[in-house]
Amino acid sequence: MRAPVTAYVGLGANLGDPSAAVRAAIEGLDALPQSRVTARSSLYRTAPVGATGPDYVNAVAALETSLTAPDLLAQLQHLEQRAGRERPYPNAPRTLDLDLLLYGDARIASPRLVVPHPRMHERAFVLHPLAEIAPHLVPAASLAAVTSQVIAGLP
Ligand code: ADP
Ligand code: MG
Repeated sequence: MRAPVTAYVGLGANLGDPSAAVRAAIEGLDALPQSRVTARSSLYRTAPVGATGPDYVNAVAALETSLTAPDLLAQLQHLEQRAGRERPYPNAPRTLDLDLLLYGDARIASPRLVVPHPRMHERAFVLHPLAEIAPHLVPAASLAAVTSQVIAGLP
């Protein structure tokens, strides 16, 4: 059995009942093999970045997992499929998007998986929830760089 790693997963949804989809996905993460959710942020509402469509609901979860990074990505994609994810075009609205933000301190650059997620430091909807559960991973300068992006905490 491999030593467990702390991974951070970014969750987003903007179709159907996005809050329910994000909450259900966090339960789904907790139910993955060799994995458990150790922290979850609150839910945030943000306008779509680089796309049109309904507002997103976003969150970040910390996962303690013994899955390899490629196996974890495959499990995330399986959860997306289960939530009815379709990919008609890039940045299309989605019932559920699960991005692997960080996998321990691993640096991965394969055709199918890039970790740390290449765009995470440009996105308020990743940095704010991540800072809520792992402040040591989010430099103040990164948060300061995304202040123009409107993000609201959900009750
Ligand atoms: P996006 O989240 O960028 O809007 P998708 O969810 O459709 O787009 O993902 C597109 C591809 O990104 C996936 O097929 C996956 O192989 C790849 N990918 C690369 N790195 C990552 C990562 N860290 N987390 C999730 N997907 C990733
Ligand atoms: Mg994605």
